Amino acid sequence: MIYPVIRLNIPLNEREMNNFPSVLEAISDLNIDQIEGLLILARKFKERPSDSTIFTNHRPIVANSFLENSTRTKTSFAIATTKLGCRYIDFNAETSSLKKGETLHETLRTLSCQGIDLCIIRSAESFILSKFKKSPPMKLINGGDGTNQHPTQALLDLFTLLEVEPNLKGKKIAIIGDCIHSRVGNSLCELLPMFGCKVILMGPKEFLPSFPPNQHVTLSTDLDKEMGSIDFLYTLRIQNERHTNSGSMLIDNYSKDFGITLKRMNKHGLNIPIFHPGPVNIGIEIDQEIINSPYYMGYEQVKNSIFMRMAIITTMLQNNDKSVGSFNENRLQSKL
Ligand code: ASP
Repeated sequence: MIYPVIRLNIPLNEREMNNFPSVLEAISDLNIDQIEGLLILARKFKERPSDSTIFTNHRPIVANSFLENSTRTKTSFAIATTKLGCRYIDFNAETSSLKKGETLHETLRTLSCQGIDLCIIRSAESFILSKFKKSPPMKLINGGDGTNQHPTQALLDLFTLLEVEPNLKGKKIAIIGDCIHSRVGNSLCELLPMFGCKVILMGPKEFLPSFPPNQHVTLSTDLDKEMGSIDFLYTLRIQNERHTNSGSMLIDNYSKDFGITLKRMNKHGLNIPIFHPGPVNIGIEIDQEIINSPYYMGYEQVKNSIFMRMAIITTMLQNNDKSVGSFNENRLQSKL
Protein backbone atom coordinates (compact mmCIF):
# COMPACT_ATOMS: atom_id res chain seq x y z
CA MET A 1 0.00 0.00 0.00
CA ILE A 2 1.24 3.48 -0.78
CA TYR A 3 0.35 6.16 1.66
CA PRO A 4 0.94 9.51 0.03
CA VAL A 5 1.46 12.22 2.62
CA ILE A 6 2.59 11.76 6.18
CA ARG A 7 0.08 13.13 8.69
CA LEU A 8 1.89 13.83 11.91
CA ASN A 9 -0.87 15.95 13.38
CA ILE A 10 -3.38 13.09 13.60
CA PRO A 11 -4.07 11.15 16.82
CA LEU A 12 -2.43 7.77 17.30
CA ASN A 13 -4.49 4.85 16.09
CA GLU A 14 -4.67 3.27 19.56
CA ARG A 15 -6.11 0.00 18.32
CA GLU A 16 -3.28 -0.54 15.84
CA MET A 17 -0.66 0.50 18.40
CA ASN A 18 -2.12 -2.01 20.88
CA ASN A 19 -1.82 -4.65 18.16
CA PHE A 20 1.83 -3.83 17.61
CA PRO A 21 3.83 -7.04 17.03
CA SER A 22 5.64 -8.58 19.99
CA VAL A 23 8.50 -9.57 17.70
CA LEU A 24 9.67 -6.76 15.42
CA GLU A 25 11.74 -8.60 12.88
CA ALA A 26 11.11 -6.75 9.62
CA ILE A 27 9.37 -3.70 8.22
CA SER A 28 6.73 -6.05 6.80
CA ASP A 29 5.64 -6.79 10.40
CA LEU A 30 4.20 -3.27 10.60
CA ASN A 31 1.26 -1.58 8.95
CA ILE A 32 1.12 2.05 7.91
CA ASP A 33 -0.88 3.14 10.99
CA GLN A 34 1.71 1.62 13.30
CA ILE A 35 4.55 3.28 11.40
CA GLU A 36 2.77 6.63 11.53
CA GLY A 37 2.17 6.07 15.22
CA LEU A 38 5.90 5.54 15.78
CA LEU A 39 6.70 8.72 13.84
CA ILE A 40 4.25 10.69 15.96
CA LEU A 41 5.63 9.29 19.21
CA ALA A 42 9.24 9.84 18.15
CA ARG A 43 8.42 13.45 17.29
CA LYS A 44 6.82 13.85 20.70
CA PHE A 45 9.89 12.48 22.47
CA LYS A 46 12.08 14.82 20.47
CA GLU A 47 9.98 17.91 21.08
CA ARG A 48 9.11 17.27 24.71
CA PRO A 49 12.12 15.57 26.33
CA SER A 50 10.66 16.34 29.76
CA ASP A 51 7.84 13.85 29.07
CA SER A 52 10.26 11.04 28.38
CA THR A 53 10.02 8.98 31.55
CA ILE A 54 7.08 6.79 30.68
CA PHE A 55 7.76 3.93 33.08
CA THR A 56 7.81 5.06 36.69
CA ASN A 57 6.09 2.54 38.99
CA HIS A 58 6.61 -0.72 37.20
CA ARG A 59 10.01 -0.38 35.51
CA PRO A 60 10.36 -3.03 32.78
CA ILE A 61 13.74 -4.66 32.19
CA VAL A 62 15.21 -4.30 28.71
CA ALA A 63 18.29 -6.22 27.57
CA ASN A 64 20.63 -5.72 24.66
CA SER A 65 22.01 -8.96 23.29
CA PHE A 66 24.46 -8.18 20.51
CA LEU A 67 26.11 -11.16 18.85
CA GLU A 68 27.73 -8.89 16.23
CA ASN A 69 29.64 -5.65 16.72
CA SER A 70 27.83 -2.36 17.12
CA THR A 71 28.37 1.18 18.33
CA ARG A 72 25.36 3.22 17.28
CA THR A 73 22.50 0.75 17.53
CA LYS A 74 23.57 -0.73 20.84
CA THR A 75 24.19 2.54 22.66
CA SER A 76 21.12 4.18 21.22
CA PHE A 77 18.89 1.34 22.48
CA ALA A 78 20.61 1.57 25.87
CA ILE A 79 20.08 5.33 26.09
CA ALA A 80 16.48 5.10 24.85
CA THR A 81 15.79 2.43 27.50
CA THR A 82 17.15 4.45 30.39
CA LYS A 83 15.49 7.70 29.27
CA LEU A 84 12.14 5.92 29.36
CA GLY A 85 12.74 4.87 32.95
CA CYS A 86 13.24 1.17 32.19
CA ARG A 87 16.01 -0.89 33.75
CA TYR A 88 18.77 -1.85 31.35
CA ILE A 89 20.87 -5.03 31.14
CA ASP A 90 23.82 -5.34 28.81
CA PHE A 91 23.76 -9.07 28.14
CA ASN A 92 27.27 -9.94 27.09
CA ALA A 93 26.86 -12.66 24.50
CA GLU A 94 30.62 -13.18 24.24
CA THR A 95 30.93 -14.32 27.86
CA SER A 96 27.55 -16.05 28.06
CA SER A 97 26.60 -19.72 27.82
CA LEU A 98 25.92 -19.18 24.13
CA LYS A 99 29.66 -19.70 23.89
CA LYS A 100 29.21 -23.07 25.65
CA GLY A 101 26.80 -24.10 22.92
CA GLU A 102 23.51 -23.13 24.56
CA THR A 103 20.91 -22.27 21.93
CA LEU A 104 19.49 -18.77 21.59
CA HIS A 105 16.08 -20.28 22.30
CA GLU A 106 17.20 -21.61 25.70
CA THR A 107 19.07 -18.41 26.45
CA LEU A 108 16.00 -16.27 25.80
CA ARG A 109 13.74 -18.54 27.84
CA THR A 110 16.22 -18.25 30.69
CA LEU A 111 16.33 -14.48 30.46
CA SER A 112 12.55 -14.39 30.33
CA CYS A 113 12.33 -16.47 33.55
CA GLN A 114 14.63 -13.91 35.15
CA GLY A 115 12.11 -11.21 34.33
CA ILE A 116 13.50 -9.56 31.20
CA ASP A 117 10.58 -8.00 29.36
CA LEU A 118 12.20 -7.03 26.07
CA CYS A 119 15.40 -8.03 24.34
CA ILE A 120 17.10 -6.42 21.37
CA ILE A 121 19.02 -8.98 19.36
CA ARG A 122 21.71 -8.49 16.76
CA SER A 123 23.09 -11.51 14.96
CA ALA A 124 25.11 -12.44 11.89
CA GLU A 125 22.38 -15.00 11.13
CA SER A 126 19.52 -13.84 8.91
CA PHE A 127 15.94 -14.57 10.06
CA ILE A 128 17.11 -15.54 13.54
CA LEU A 129 13.95 -14.09 15.13
CA SER A 130 11.44 -15.83 12.83
CA LYS A 131 11.25 -18.91 15.01
CA PHE A 132 10.18 -16.88 18.04
CA LYS A 133 7.17 -15.25 16.44
CA LYS A 134 4.68 -17.98 17.32
CA SER A 135 5.46 -18.11 21.01
CA PRO A 136 7.81 -15.26 21.97
CA PRO A 137 9.70 -15.76 25.25
CA MET A 138 9.63 -11.96 25.68
CA LYS A 139 9.19 -8.95 23.42
CA LEU A 140 11.94 -9.05 20.80
CA ILE A 141 13.42 -6.41 18.50
CA ASN A 142 15.68 -7.15 15.59
CA GLY A 143 18.80 -4.99 15.97
CA GLY A 144 20.09 -6.25 12.59
CA ASP A 145 20.11 -9.89 11.41
CA GLY A 146 22.74 -10.89 8.87
CA THR A 147 21.92 -9.52 5.44
CA ASN A 148 18.18 -9.61 6.07
CA GLN A 149 16.68 -6.61 7.92
CA HIS A 150 17.44 -3.71 10.22
CA PRO A 151 13.94 -2.31 10.74
CA THR A 152 14.71 0.21 13.49
CA GLN A 153 17.48 1.80 11.41
CA ALA A 154 15.10 2.23 8.47
CA LEU A 155 12.42 3.74 10.74
CA LEU A 156 14.80 6.31 12.21
CA ASP A 157 16.02 7.09 8.70
CA LEU A 158 12.44 7.69 7.61
CA PHE A 159 11.94 10.00 10.59
CA THR A 160 15.08 11.96 9.63
CA LEU A 161 14.10 12.08 5.95
CA LEU A 162 10.67 13.46 6.84
CA GLU A 163 12.30 16.25 8.82
CA VAL A 164 14.05 17.30 5.62
CA GLU A 165 11.10 16.68 3.30
CA PRO A 166 7.67 16.16 4.88
CA ASN A 167 6.11 14.85 1.65
CA LEU A 168 8.05 11.99 0.09
CA LYS A 169 5.46 11.29 -2.60
CA GLY A 170 7.15 11.23 -6.01
CA LYS A 171 10.61 11.85 -4.55
CA LYS A 172 13.52 9.66 -5.54
CA ILE A 173 16.20 8.28 -3.26
CA ALA A 174 19.36 6.61 -4.52
CA ILE A 175 20.61 3.86 -2.22
CA ILE A 176 24.21 3.42 -3.23
CA GLY A 177 26.67 0.65 -2.55
CA ASP A 178 26.74 -2.87 -1.25
CA CYS A 179 23.02 -3.46 -1.72
CA ILE A 180 22.99 -7.26 -1.71
CA HIS A 181 24.66 -7.46 1.68
CA SER A 182 22.85 -4.56 3.30
CA ARG A 183 20.07 -5.26 5.78
CA VAL A 184 19.56 -1.49 6.02
CA GLY A 185 19.02 -1.27 2.26
CA ASN A 186 16.51 -4.14 2.39
CA SER A 187 14.47 -2.49 5.13
CA LEU A 188 14.50 0.87 3.34
CA CYS A 189 13.31 -0.73 0.08
CA GLU A 190 10.22 -1.96 1.93
CA LEU A 191 9.60 1.13 4.02
CA LEU A 192 10.15 4.15 1.76
CA PRO A 193 7.75 3.10 -1.03
CA MET A 194 4.98 2.95 1.61
CA PHE A 195 5.38 6.75 1.72
CA GLY A 196 5.41 7.16 -2.04
CA CYS A 197 9.20 7.49 -2.32
CA LYS A 198 10.84 5.83 -5.32
CA VAL A 199 14.05 3.94 -4.71
CA ILE A 200 16.91 3.38 -7.10
CA LEU A 201 19.53 0.87 -5.99
CA MET A 202 22.97 1.70 -7.37
CA GLY A 203 26.37 0.10 -7.33
CA PRO A 204 28.61 -2.18 -9.35
CA LYS A 205 26.52 -5.04 -10.71
CA GLU A 206 28.16 -7.45 -8.25
CA PHE A 207 26.60 -5.39 -5.43
CA LEU A 208 23.11 -5.28 -6.92
CA PRO A 209 20.39 -7.94 -6.71
CA SER A 210 19.48 -9.69 -9.99
CA PHE A 211 15.97 -8.24 -9.78
CA PRO A 212 14.52 -5.25 -7.92
CA PRO A 213 12.90 -6.37 -4.65
CA ASN A 214 9.55 -4.75 -5.53
CA GLN A 215 7.89 -2.64 -8.23
CA HIS A 216 8.83 0.67 -6.59
CA VAL A 217 12.54 -0.06 -6.83
CA THR A 218 14.80 0.16 -9.91
CA LEU A 219 18.44 -0.77 -10.41
CA SER A 220 21.32 1.16 -11.98
CA THR A 221 25.07 0.80 -12.32
CA ASP A 222 25.63 4.36 -13.58
CA LEU A 223 25.67 6.86 -10.75
CA ASP A 224 26.74 9.89 -12.78
CA LYS A 225 23.95 9.30 -15.28
CA GLU A 226 21.26 9.23 -12.58
CA MET A 227 22.61 11.94 -10.29
CA GLY A 228 20.59 14.78 -11.86
CA SER A 229 17.20 13.19 -11.11
CA ILE A 230 17.82 12.25 -7.47
CA ASP A 231 16.40 14.00 -4.39
CA PHE A 232 18.36 12.18 -1.66
CA LEU A 233 21.48 10.05 -1.52
CA TYR A 234 21.68 7.15 0.92
CA THR A 235 25.14 5.61 0.97
CA LEU A 236 25.66 2.11 2.36
CA ARG A 237 28.74 0.74 4.04
CA ILE A 238 30.73 -1.84 2.10
CA GLN A 239 30.13 -4.92 4.24
CA ASN A 240 33.69 -6.24 4.27
CA GLU A 241 32.85 -8.84 6.90
CA ARG A 242 30.33 -10.48 4.53
CA HIS A 243 32.59 -10.55 1.47
CA THR A 244 34.60 -13.22 -0.21
CA ASN A 245 37.85 -12.18 -1.91
CA SER A 246 36.17 -11.25 -5.17
CA GLY A 247 34.07 -8.72 -3.28
CA SER A 248 37.08 -7.01 -1.81
CA MET A 249 38.72 -6.71 -5.24
CA LEU A 250 35.79 -4.54 -6.33
CA ILE A 251 36.50 -2.03 -3.63
CA ASP A 252 39.61 -0.75 -5.42
CA ASN A 253 37.47 0.85 -8.12
CA TYR A 254 34.49 1.55 -5.94
CA SER A 255 35.20 5.10 -4.83
CA LYS A 256 36.04 6.23 -8.37
CA ASP A 257 32.65 5.08 -9.69
CA PHE A 258 30.40 5.39 -6.64
CA GLY A 259 32.16 7.35 -3.91
CA ILE A 260 30.38 10.56 -2.96
CA THR A 261 32.76 13.50 -2.92
CA LEU A 262 32.24 17.23 -2.94
CA LYS A 263 33.80 17.26 -6.39
CA ARG A 264 31.17 14.86 -7.69
CA MET A 265 28.36 16.84 -6.05
CA ASN A 266 29.65 20.10 -7.54
CA LYS A 267 30.06 18.53 -10.96
CA HIS A 268 26.33 17.77 -10.98
CA GLY A 269 25.40 21.04 -9.27
CA LEU A 270 23.81 19.06 -6.44
CA ASN A 271 23.10 20.21 -2.91
CA ILE A 272 20.98 17.38 -1.57
CA PRO A 273 21.06 15.53 1.77
CA ILE A 274 23.41 12.56 2.06
CA PHE A 275 22.57 9.79 4.50
CA HIS A 276 24.73 6.97 5.83
CA PRO A 277 23.79 4.47 8.58
CA GLY A 278 27.38 4.30 9.83
CA PRO A 279 30.03 3.27 10.39
CA VAL A 280 31.49 4.99 7.33
CA ASN A 281 34.51 3.73 5.42
CA ILE A 282 35.79 7.26 4.97
CA GLY A 283 37.25 7.88 1.52
CA ILE A 284 35.41 4.89 0.05
CA GLU A 285 31.65 5.48 0.33
CA ILE A 286 31.93 9.18 1.15
CA ASP A 287 34.88 11.42 1.83
CA GLN A 288 35.76 13.47 4.88
CA GLU A 289 34.75 16.71 3.15
CA ILE A 290 31.21 15.39 2.75
CA ILE A 291 31.10 14.39 6.41
CA ASN A 292 32.14 17.92 7.36
CA SER A 293 29.62 19.48 4.98
CA PRO A 294 26.03 20.55 5.69
CA TYR A 295 24.79 17.87 3.27
CA TYR A 296 25.79 15.08 5.62
CA MET A 297 22.86 13.70 7.65
CA GLY A 298 24.72 10.92 9.49
CA TYR A 299 24.81 12.75 12.81
CA GLU A 300 21.12 13.70 12.54
CA GLN A 301 20.33 10.02 12.00
CA VAL A 302 22.31 9.18 15.15
CA LYS A 303 20.50 11.86 17.19
CA ASN A 304 17.08 10.80 15.96
CA SER A 305 17.82 7.14 16.61
CA ILE A 306 17.20 7.71 20.31
CA PHE A 307 13.70 9.14 19.79
CA MET A 308 12.61 6.50 17.29
CA ARG A 309 13.88 3.71 19.52
CA MET A 310 12.10 5.25 22.51
CA ALA A 311 8.91 5.16 20.46
CA ILE A 312 9.43 1.52 19.50
CA ILE A 313 10.33 0.34 23.01
CA THR A 314 7.37 2.19 24.56
CA THR A 315 4.90 0.79 22.07
CA MET A 316 6.17 -2.76 22.40
CA LEU A 317 6.22 -2.73 26.19
CA GLN A 318 2.70 -1.35 26.30
CA ASN A 319 1.15 -3.99 24.08
CA ASN A 320 -0.54 -6.60 26.17
CA ASP A 321 0.13 -9.73 24.12
CA LYS A 322 -0.83 -12.73 26.24
CA SER A 323 1.24 -15.16 24.17
CA VAL A 324 4.50 -13.54 25.31
CA GLY A 325 6.29 -15.70 27.87
CA SER A 326 3.35 -18.12 27.94
CA PHE A 327 5.72 -21.13 27.87
CA ASN A 328 6.34 -20.31 31.52
CA GLU A 329 2.71 -20.49 32.56
CA ASN A 330 1.94 -23.53 30.41
CA ARG A 331 4.72 -25.53 32.05
CA LEU A 332 3.51 -24.60 35.49
CA GLN A 333 -0.10 -25.48 34.73
CA SER A 334 0.76 -28.87 33.32
CA LYS A 335 2.62 -29.73 36.54
CA LEU A 336 -0.23 -28.74 38.85
N1 ASP B 1 25.13 -0.24 11.36
C1 ASP B 1 24.38 -0.78 10.26
C2 ASP B 1 24.16 -2.26 10.43
O1 ASP B 1 24.46 -2.81 11.46
C3 ASP B 1 25.02 -0.47 8.96
C4 ASP B 1 26.34 -1.15 8.72
O2 ASP B 1 26.95 -1.72 9.62
O3 ASP B 1 26.76 -1.08 7.59
O4 ASP B 1 23.66 -2.89 9.53
